[in-house]
Amino acid sequence: MEISLELLSRLAQDCRRCPLGDNRTNLVFGEGDPEADLMLIGEAPGETEDQTGRPFVGRAGQLLTQILASVGIKREEVYITNVVKCRPPGNRVPTHAEMEACWDWLAAQIALVNPKIIVTLGNTPTQKLLGTNEGITKLRGRFYLWKGGIEVFPMFHPSYLLRNPSRKKGSPKYLTWQDIKAVAERLSLLRSRSRGS
Ligand code: URA
Repeated sequence: MEISLELLSRLAQDCRRCPLGDNRTNLVFGEGDPEADLMLIGEAPGETEDQTGRPFVGRAGQLLTQILASVGIKREEVYITNVVKCRPPGNRVPTHAEMEACWDWLAAQIALVNPKIIVTLGNTPTQKLLGTNEGITKLRGRFYLWKGGIEVFPMFHPSYLLRNPSRKKGSPKYLTWQDIKAVAERLSLLRSRSRGS
């Protein structure tokens, strides 16, 4: 049987690999284009995501959609997921054990989507993928070559931008708008390279 994101998502619905599964309303597997060139990885579902079963649909998600739209990227053309698929109590940061327990789902999603670029949003997915304790402020805004030739680009998490709304030069929001432009440019370069033009 060929494994697809659809099948994987159905299998994940019964997951009890860590205690987060005990308190979920819905497991939030991920959504978007299964052949997306751009994949976005957040930390964990929040309250709205837990209620709906969809990633990034609360306030942070709406801001994320706007950030993408500012460079002409539609939500439907990317694939969005999180490091852990169930909401941690009170939206706390997932523990290492929870991230480890959930890792196989994320690794399989990355392998199946096989994007050209992965944008990691905030410290949690960035540190998990890049295997570092360095903070997002230092790591953001650059491409890191990851396994299998995928480029990982860390950006601030949209929740952080909601808490820091200034658009002044050098502010997190200002830097994020620079970052998403860099992602869009790199994406179009990688796409034109793979078309051989
Ligand atoms: N924050 C995240 O990291 N992920 C979501 O899906 C929603 C908010």
